[in-house]
Amino acid sequence: MTRPAAGPYRIATIEGDGIGPEVTKAALAVLKAACGEDTLDFAMLNGGAGHYRATGDVLPDETMAACREMDAILHGAAGLPGVVYPDGTEVGNDLHLRLRFTLDLYANVRPIKLLKGVTSPLRAFEGGGIDYVIVRENTEGLYASRGAGVLLRGEYASDSLVITRKGTSRVARFAFALSRKRNGAPRDGRRRLTVCDKANILRSYAFFRAVCDDVHGEFPDIDIDYAYADAITVHLLKRPDFYDVIVAENMFGDIISDLGAATVGGMGISPSGEIGDSHGLFQGAHGSAPDIAGQDVASPVATILSGAMMLRWLADKHGDMALDEAAGRVETAVERVLAAGEHVPADLGGSARCSEMTTAILRALGA
Ligand code: ATP
Repeated sequence: MTRPAAGPYRIATIEGDGIGPEVTKAALAVLKAACGEDTLDFAMLNGGAGHYRATGDVLPDETMAACREMDAILHGAAGLPGVVYPDGTEVGNDLHLRLRFTLDLYANVRPIKLLKGVTSPLRAFEGGGIDYVIVRENTEGLYASRGAGVLLRGEYASDSLVITRKGTSRVARFAFALSRKRNGAPRDGRRRLTVCDKANILRSYAFFRAVCDDVHGEFPDIDIDYAYADAITVHLLKRPDFYDVIVAENMFGDIISDLGAATVGGMGISPSGEIGDSHGLFQGAHGSAPDIAGQDVASPVATILSGAMMLRWLADKHGDMALDEAAGRVETAVERVLAAGEHVPADLGGSARCSEMTTAILRALGA
């Protein structure tokens, strides 16, 4: 096995709540097996709704400092029912939202890939037939107003949609550059960036589109395409193979990411990365699923694949090709297990336990 040349890489690891600890444990075992024991140094850190309940702090200063200083952040999931702030908002969400804004993680990357062995609700598509990435702008858009909207006399509420040239340019540049690294859309092999907005209705979205057009000038080798946010919900069901990379305003990106995930097996299989210029946070697309926590039935696949995304990001950042190869081994092992059909997690209609999935993936890795 090739060993990464650099490292050890320090990984700020927050297991969090609910199924967070079990899926994180699974990911750590797989990542260590893929990279070798000494390549990744996982620092286990406090944080989450349970920690808030015990201490009044969802993200302790030591955890924040470690996330800032270390090479990457791996997060299980955070949030517990009933653990809310006095205004009723969920405490758990605040963990990664604080990290997102403090570390300026402006690109929320959600690969939507149909793996072999997973049955899509879209009957026409098989493994490999759906393979695109949604890049959701993560720091502005409608969600920029979180905690700052106006509620007047119980009669009137408003939140402002914020689009800036700086925020849009950098996420568009990220998305075009991502397309350049990929092999194009499954349908025609074209490298294509689709801009998802409502430019027909709001000036702010027309501006989002115009800025993406400006950035396209730097990437003449990539096709540009446009889709209104309502229309794309239909396209993602009828012709998902047309898409390569999609860039979307924050709220639209949030919504279409979950739609896309549903077409390739759901949240338990979908990884995510929140990436800025210097930091990257990786976690499964799902929440803490407290209803199934501690029962060994959660699927660890999303967190394991998020770990593979983390390896690729680190590989790119440090020019460490061995990490890239390790990521490839993890992805191949996951796909091999799913394709074999012997171990199928509960959320994909099987009965394999979290621990059984992990052991099967480790075996497929040759560990
Ligand atoms: P959040 O708002 O924090 O994203 P959520 O309310 O959308 O969370 P999840 O915590 O993701 O919801 O859980 C939704 C349901 O999906 C859970 O009830 C659980 O049954 C299922 N689920 C989520 N993640 C997994 C997983 N990794 N494996 C199996 N089932 C899962």
